[in-house]
Amino acid sequence: MAPVVKRALITGINGQDGHYLSRLLLGKGYEVVGLSRRASALPEMANVRRVDGDITDRRLLSRLFDEWSFDEVYNLAGSSFGPRSWDDPLAACEVLGVAVVALLEILRKSGRGKLFQASSSELFGLTAVVPQDERTPFDPVSPYGAAKLLAHSAVAAYRREWGVFGCSGILFNHESPLRRPEFVTRKVTRGAAAIRLGLASELRLGNLAVRRDWSFAGDVAEAMWRMLQADVADDFVIARGTSHTVRDLCEVAFSHAGLDYRQYVVEDPSLVRPMDFDRRGDPAKARRVLGWTPTVSFEELVRMMVDADLEEITKSGC
Ligand code: NDP
Repeated sequence: MAPVVKRALITGINGQDGHYLSRLLLGKGYEVVGLSRRASALPEMANVRRVDGDITDRRLLSRLFDEWSFDEVYNLAGSSFGPRSWDDPLAACEVLGVAVVALLEILRKSGRGKLFQASSSELFGLTAVVPQDERTPFDPVSPYGAAKLLAHSAVAAYRREWGVFGCSGILFNHESPLRRPEFVTRKVTRGAAAIRLGLASELRLGNLAVRRDWSFAGDVAEAMWRMLQADVADDFVIARGTSHTVRDLCEVAFSHAGLDYRQYVVEDPSLVRPMDFDRRGDPAKARRVLGWTPTVSFEELVRMMVDADLEEITKSGC
């Protein structure tokens, strides 16, 4: 008998996580359909059936479900850069919140398929509790966080009320060479590479003492998949469990580029965010239930990003 091929939908497939997750699922023999608003230049995407469209288009989503009868849906769509949600709070709520309720409705009515929802450590917002786990109270401070909270709560409600197999991964920061340039990790690795190649002379940053819990995006994609293979649907904090400062990040990145960060990094008060929080997740539940642990260390991750930026800048010349 031919093996049963699983079908997965990944929304936001052109983003960082969509890339790592599609690679993982294709490697496991899945048929992958990717929803995106534009074509991707990445070679792996040639094996993905790409559908042009917006996550807020409910008719399109219904049609896709009817056509493909997905076994698994990974909802990654929506800008991952929280501060930008203030530019258009209503759009952020539609994309990151209301669209997830629409997805849940489709799953409830069809009675099939499992949903992974990309929740965020931004749900914790102002909380003073460190580290944060699945029981830490939520207190979001941006439209991004509030919309993610709507989606997170809706997944839990549909699971409880209707038995929908929906899981939220409360994802802490995760990075890779595909991280968008507005994030501090990429600013630092790109800055170190540009200075190394003689194309810049300094890097201006905000508060170097800010702490984050940074993992590798490929490890996080593995956690997403494991959640949907579990016997019982549940929510999990996905984090490294240790935090580093932006200063640590600079030290590793610049030293990998053969430089001393203290000579090039300028702490600029005008770039300090008015509200910033220390973030560290406790991934004990994911470790215990899913057997998930990060495989790439913080130092390896930063070095991987610097190498990729050196290569990219050398090729493009800027
Ligand atoms: P990216 O910003 O790299 O990718 C998000 C993708 O969503 C982009 O490809 C974007 O497409 C797409 N998208 C945006 N709006 C829409 C829309 N209206 N309809 C369809 N697609 C849309 O994010 P990541 O891959 O890093 O993150 C994936 C998910 O995980 C996001 O939901 C993010 O909020 C969440 N998350 C990520 C964290 C991280 O550290 N990376 C931490 C916590 C949560 P386009 O290219 O066309 O704009």
